[in-house]
Amino acid sequence: MTTGAHILVFPYPAQGHMIPLLDLTHQLALRGLTITILITPKNLPILTPLLSTHPNSITTLVLPFPSHPSIPTGVENTKDLPNGSFNAMMHAMSEFSNPIIHWFQSHSSPPIVILSDTFLGFTNQLASQLGIKHLVFSPSGTLNFSIYNSLWSDFPKYPNDTSTLIEFPNVPNSPKFPWFQLGPVYRKYMEEEGPNSEFIKNSMRGNLSSWGIVINTFTELESLYLNHLKKEFGHERVFAVGPLLPPNDGTKERGGSSSIVVNDLLSWLDTCPDKSVVYVCFGSQVVLRNQQMEELARGLEKSGVRFIWCTKQATKGHVEEDYGMIPAGFEDRVAGRGFVIKGWAPQVVILNHRAVGSFLTHCGWNSVLESLNAGVPMLMWPMGADQYFNANLIVDHMSVGVKVCEGALTVPNADELARKMAELIGEDKLLSQRAKELSQAAVNAVKEGGSSFRDLNALVRELCVLNK
Ligand code: UDP
Repeated sequence: MTTGAHILVFPYPAQGHMIPLLDLTHQLALRGLTITILITPKNLPILTPLLSTHPNSITTLVLPFPSHPSIPTGVENTKDLPNGSFNAMMHAMSEFSNPIIHWFQSHSSPPIVILSDTFLGFTNQLASQLGIKHLVFSPSGTLNFSIYNSLWSDFPKYPNDTSTLIEFPNVPNSPKFPWFQLGPVYRKYMEEEGPNSEFIKNSMRGNLSSWGIVINTFTELESLYLNHLKKEFGHERVFAVGPLLPPNDGTKERGGSSSIVVNDLLSWLDTCPDKSVVYVCFGSQVVLRNQQMEELARGLEKSGVRFIWCTKQATKGHVEEDYGMIPAGFEDRVAGRGFVIKGWAPQVVILNHRAVGSFLTHCGWNSVLESLNAGVPMLMWPMGADQYFNANLIVDHMSVGVKVCEGALTVPNADELARKMAELIGEDKLLSQRAKELSQAAVNAVKEGGSSFRDLNALVRELCVLNK
C-alpha cells in the first residue's frame, strides 16, 4: 500500500511512551507512509533500528532539548526523567512549537498530520495553526483514555482526603477510584497548579478534540471502551492498533541495550521446566526503596521458585544509598535458581520464553500487553500513573492476573509474596486458561485480517484521503 502521505511523529521522551509509538511508526512505514520523527540528540540512538529498516521512508527532525526553568539540565536523557516532573516536561516540550513551524514552512512537502503522544496535547493547537490534522497516540489503554476524557471534561475537584472515591458513571462499568489513584498530571493540576494552569488544561484537552485517536490496545480486550469513546467523540476515528510489538529481529535491543548477554539468559531459561520461572520487573521508571528490595528479595528466597529479577539503580532525584540495593549475600544464596539483571532487561524475549510462567509487574500498560500477548498470567503491583486502572481491567474484568500489593511506597509482605509466587506457577488453571485465550486473541488481532491489522489499514486509508 503506497499513499505518499507525509506525517510528523512526535514521541514523548520516556521509554514507556516512545517504544510503542516507534513500533507503530514501523507499521505505518510498512504501509507506505513517509515519516519524519522529531527527536532530541540524546534520544537519537533509540531510532537506530527503525532508521536502518526504513532508510527511504523515515527521516528525523533532530532538535535540541528546550530549556525550561523547572527542568534541570540533562533530563532529556530518557532514563533521567525525574519522578513527578511530567507537567514541567510538558511545558518544556511546548518550546518545540516555533522550531516545528519554521521546519514546516521551509519544507518542500510538509506533513499533513502530526501524530503525537498524549503528553504533547499542545500539538493539537499547533496542527490547527499549520492547517493540518492532529492524531493523538495513547500508549495507555482505552479504559485509561475513557477516564482521562471524563477527568478533563468534568474536572472533579480535589477532595482534600485523597482516599475519597471519584466515580466515573459515564464510563462503561461505572468505575470508581480513590483520588490518589488518578493520574498524576490531573492530580498535580488540581492540587498544586490549580485550574489556572491554562497550559496544562489546554494541552490535555487538546487531545480530546483531536481529529483521531490511535490506541495501543485491541478490540477483543477493550471493545466496550472503544465504542464508548467513539460515541463520546462522535466519530469513528478511534483506532485500536495493538498490541504494538517490535519486528521479530528487534526484540533483543528494544528500548535499550540489555544489561546482560541475552544468550546467557536464554541458555539458563532453556534449562528450566515449562512455566516454572517468575519474571519480576517494574518498567522503565520505578526504582524500589531498599526496604522494598529487602522484602521482595526475602519473598523470592522463601518462595523457592525460579526467577528473573530485573532491578533498577537509583537515578537523579534519588538519594542513592536509599534505593535499588540488592541485599548482601542474596545473589549467592539463590545462585542457580535466580537470575538478577541490574539495568535493562530484554523483556519481550523473556516473556515469550516457554519457561516463564508468571510476571510480577507494576502494571505499566506496555508490560500488561506484552504479558497478555505472550500468554503469561500476571502478579500485579500497581504503583501509580494508569496502573491502578490497568490492574482493575486485568484482575476484575479479564481475570488474567491477581493483585499482590499496591502503592509506590508500600513495602510488600515477604510471606504473602512468596506464597502467591509459588501458587501461580502452573497451579491456577483458570488464570492459565484465560491467559491462553487472551494471548490467542492478541496474536490474532495483529495478524493479517485481524482487528488491529484492519484498524491500521483503515487509519492509513483515512490519511490517504487527506493527502488527496
Ligand atoms: N522494558 C524493557 N526492559 C526493562 C524495563 C522495561 O524492555 O528493563 C520495556 C518494557 O518491555 C515495556 C516498557 O519498557 O515495553 C515499559 O513500559 P510500561 O508501560 O510497562 O512501564 P513504564 O516504564 O512506562 O512505567
